[in-house]
Parts: sequence; C-alpha cells; structure tokens
Amino acid sequence: MKRILITGAAGFIGSHLCDRFIKEGYHVIGMDNLITGDIRNIEHLFHLEHFDFYHHDVTKFVHVPDKLDYILHFASPASPIDYLKIPIQTLKVGSLGTHNLLGLAKEKNARILIASTSEVYGDPLVHPQSEEYYGNVNTIGPRGVYDEAKRFQESITMAYHRFHGLETRIVRIFNTYGPRMRLNDGRVIPAFIGQALRGEDLTVFGDGTQTRSFCYITDQVEGIFRLLMSDYVDPVNIGNPHEITIGDFAEEIIKLTGTSQKVIYKELPVDDPLKRKPDISKAKEILNWEPKVDRAEGMKKTYDYFKSLPEKELFKKEH
Ligand code: NAD
Ligand code: UDP
Repeated sequence: MKRILITGAAGFIGSHLCDRFIKEGYHVIGMDNLITGDIRNIEHLFHLEHFDFYHHDVTKFVHVPDKLDYILHFASPASPIDYLKIPIQTLKVGSLGTHNLLGLAKEKNARILIASTSEVYGDPLVHPQSEEYYGNVNTIGPRGVYDEAKRFQESITMAYHRFHGLETRIVRIFNTYGPRMRLNDGRVIPAFIGQALRGEDLTVFGDGTQTRSFCYITDQVEGIFRLLMSDYVDPVNIGNPHEITIGDFAEEIIKLTGTSQKVIYKELPVDDPLKRKPDISKAKEILNWEPKVDRAEGMKKTYDYFKSLPEKELFKKEH
C-alpha cells in the first residue's frame, strides 16, 4: 500500500486531499499544528485503519516512521488576515518547514509536491499570468511574508531537485473555494457569505474593480492529483480562468443568498493585487486538466455548507 504524508491536513485544501487519497486506496498520514486549521475537517477519518494524524509544527524537525512514497506540503497560513497576524510563522513554515520536508523526502526517497501560489506573481504586470512570468512582489510590504516565503519555497525545492535529484512537483494554486473554508478567515468568499448570513452589509475593499478567478475545490484537488502523478518538474498553475471583479462578485452573492443587505466600501489593503487570472495552457497540455465546476454550481455548494454550520460559528469573532 502506498503511503502519503499530507501537511496542513486539517486545513481547507489539505483535508480534501486527505479524503481524495483515502479514496484512492492510500495510507494517509495527516500532519498539522492546527494554527489556522480545524480538526473537525478530518475527524471523519480518525476511525480508519489507513489514516494517522500527527499534531506537529513542521517548522520543527519532522519524523515519520516507515516508508513514505509521497509528500504533499500544504501547511501554511493562506488567508491575508491569517498571515498578517502571524507573519513570522508564515515565513518559517514556507522556509524552515519546506526545508524539513525536503529533507524527509530525501531520506525516504519520496516524491514531494509543494503548494505554491498565484501570490508569487504579486501584483502582476502581465495578464493572464503564465508560469513564465517572474512576478511583481513588494518584498518589504505586509504581504511579502507570504509571497517571499512561497518564492523561497519554490527555489529550495528546485535546488533539492537539481542538487539531490529529488523528485519534486510545484503547484501554483489560484484562489480556491468550497466547503471547509473557515468562516472567519477573512477571505472574500467566507467574508461575503458570513456577512449575508449575519444580515450585515457586504464589505468590498477598494472600488471593487480588482479581479479574481475562483476555482472550486474538487477541480483543484484533481489538478493537484494529476500533477503529482505526472513527471513534470517545473511549476504549474492550477486555477479557474473565469475572471470577475470583486464588485460584481458581491452582487452575485447578494443574489445567491437573497440578502437585503447592500455593498459598503472599505479601504483596499496594501499591495492587494489589482488583477488575477491564471493562464492554464500548461495544465491543459501536460495534465489534460481543466476546471469542470462553474461558479454558480460551486458557490451554491459552498453557500449550502456555510448555511449548515451551527449558528454560534457564524458569530464567532477571531480577529
Ligand atoms: P488553511 O489555513 O485552511 O490550511 C493550512 C493548514 O496548515 C492549517 O490546517 C494550519 O493549521 C496548517 N499549518 C500552518 N502552519 C503550520 C505549521 N507550521 N505546522 C503544521 N501545520 C501548519 O489554508 P488552505 O487554503 O487550505 O491552504 C493550504 C495551502 O495551499 C497553503 O500552503 C496555501 O499557501 C496554499 N494555497 C491556497 C490557496 C487557496 O485559495 N486556498 C491559494 C494559493 C495557495
Ligand atoms: N475582499 C473584499 N472584501 C472582503 C474580503 C476581501 O473586497 O471582505 C477583496 C480583497 O481586497 C481582494 C479580493 O477580495 O481584492 C480577494 O481577497 P481574498 O482575501 O479572498 O484573497 P487574495 O486573492 O487577496 O489572496
């Protein structure tokens, strides 16, 4: 039986990856320090013989007994308010954490895939963003802690590949959404849906003309699975190229939720990228992958998930 270690297992994407690899018949070892994740995302796996959970901070030495065939390194705060709140941990998990996991992959002779991000392109001057674009990142701005940690992560991963011959894969994930996002993580989808459910106005930052392109979680997981199984070493964008302005998106959420609230405008966060849309030609060509779930379908499922949460979750203040 193949064995896979998934870091960030109790988080949004990590927990869906655990489900997928269990379904594929793997022995899954989940690892997480629960700093932004929620154990309830993987509780349903605890009774399985082929699932183990390690409560561990990957910036500390990582040890896993027995063989490992694959490692997916997904541990990292991912929402802007999370990484602005814990900037040093964010830098450490992308750098020291990645170093630890590359070392483990080398020791076990395992293939490792690391979770990079569209944030490596920063506030992009090229649109849509293809993997060839080097990016436009403000190293010393508040978002730099995340962006530069991820850029370092890509560099050290390629160095392990080139210097040690390690089998490495790099996925550049674009805004992904779906059930198990944290209601209060500040990202735009839980923020808007939470506001609609609480009967609050929807907070659009800036004038709402900035764009994003949202990818549903099952499409993201499929892209990651295919990349891990491929023999392609350079980074690959996985995201949905269907772009929308945040202002229009707020209107879509007002329609979806039937709320009678309105949009209010707040200050745009520093270095908030004005445009983002993946060029997915590479994923199409190499992985024969493209997204299947359109925004209407994905948002309905996501809204149903948030609606099903206990009311006290809705009013829990984190920040
Ligand atoms: P998330 O916050 O839901 O999950 C991250 C998980 O990592 C959490 O469970 C957290 O507790 C864990 N973690 C953080 N630091 C850790 C540490 N030092 N040791 C052990 N565990 C630690 O976020 P997510 O949206 O699921 O993101 C997962 C990964 O995908 C991240 O690496 C993120 O950078 C990347 N990514 C996500 C998106 C997206 O749209 N969701 C976009 C680009 C990249
Ligand atoms: N945003 C917003 N209102 C909110 C939360 C976010 O207008 O309550 C905007 C944010 O400024 C950004 C976009 O929505 O332009 C996406 O933000 P998110 O935090 O989801 O992810 P990002 O792509 O910026 O990492």
